[in-house]
Amino acid sequence: MKRIKLLALGCRLNEAELESWADAFYQCGFEIVSENAPADLIVINTCAVTAQAVRKSRQLLRRQQRNNPNAQLIVSGCLATLEATALAQERGVNLLIKNHEKDQLVETVSSHFSLNKKPIREDFSTPLFARNRQRAFIKAQDGCRFQCTFCITTQARGEERSRSRTEIVNIINRLQQFGIQEVVLTGVQLGGYGSDCGDNLTELVAHVLAVTTIPRLRLGSLEPWDLPIDFWRLFSDSRLLPHLHLPLQSGSDAVLRRMARRCKVQEFMQLVKTGRAQIPNLNLSTDIIVGFPGETANDWQKTLHAVEAAQFGHIHIFNYSPRIGTLAATLPNQIGTAIKYQRSEELKILAQKLKRKVLTDQIGQQVTVLIEGADTTSPIERFGYTPNYLPVHIKHLNAVGENRLIEVQLTELTADGDALLGITV
Ligand code: SF4
Repeated sequence: MKRIKLLALGCRLNEAELESWADAFYQCGFEIVSENAPADLIVINTCAVTAQAVRKSRQLLRRQQRNNPNAQLIVSGCLATLEATALAQERGVNLLIKNHEKDQLVETVSSHFSLNKKPIREDFSTPLFARNRQRAFIKAQDGCRFQCTFCITTQARGEERSRSRTEIVNIINRLQQFGIQEVVLTGVQLGGYGSDCGDNLTELVAHVLAVTTIPRLRLGSLEPWDLPIDFWRLFSDSRLLPHLHLPLQSGSDAVLRRMARRCKVQEFMQLVKTGRAQIPNLNLSTDIIVGFPGETANDWQKTLHAVEAAQFGHIHIFNYSPRIGTLAATLPNQIGTAIKYQRSEELKILAQKLKRKVLTDQIGQQVTVLIEGADTTSPIERFGYTPNYLPVHIKHLNAVGENRLIEVQLTELTADGDALLGITV
């Protein structure tokens, strides 16, 4: 039996692709091995979103080559797409599969190495999921038609293309058949779902909720524009969980214009207001780019103000780093490292304050938590997420295994104020 190792860096989409490849390889009789185990074939789904991501992808390639000198190395993902020529000439890379060829990766690998590509078993080998999480990422959409000036992903992933509703429902039913209780629909530009086939995200989600019995459905990151007016009604079904990740990136319209973002600050705030009015206990998270070229002190104050006004439960903070190949990397007035550092420290403090407020507002509520696994800080506790995607440590639950949905009373904040504590009811 061929041993295959599948590794991914970067976004949820890369992880979703890895999970579906692992399932397909497993059905074809391959043994899925872990990162440090010896393997006959190694597939690396690379990331190239930043210069640092490129470095990490290359380091992983070299480490796997060093530790598995006899293994066949297959490189896919954004680095394999953006730097194909260079990678193809690299010693030890046996096969390159670009992003637009990914959906055929299992067949391509099996043909290229003359291996079995016919499914010979039907069961499912979990855990497939990175970092022991218990929710499955499902690739619903790929590519993006927009051109944000800092973004290389739109170049690496190409035009928008959507998976059919039937395919998505079949994947969800198969995952549920093997005990998965929560799935996340993800994409490069998830809001663009259906733009290539006359469908849209609202109709997709409504369909999934109508024809499957999956207990919990989440949505991956959504650009804060083009959300259909009837999008909010979907959340009347409590299986669609009340958390949205809407990247704001900056609170200054002048900066958003230079980023070529399609949403002004006022429009974003209107979205927040509508969402909060329509969805009880909605938790919003976001991305903020710190130190985008030309960002003035006044722009920065506007960003802090917008973040405070939106009351985000969590903020991913990115210090802007020029990505060769993007328009923003050529813009004048690049901001110095010291200013970026000072501003991101300021934002971290604000983010912590807002997170603590959102967590505190949950105390006293009874919610259903999906157990992710053992709590690393305490053997008698378990760890999981609330429906609105807030971290909870649950006491005295050492006997309960992962992937269980349990009722929890939220009682207080953890000592560091970074999560909730709860007890079972
Ligand atoms: S919408 Fe998202 S994926 Fe598309 S170009 Fe902008 S940042 Fe990149």
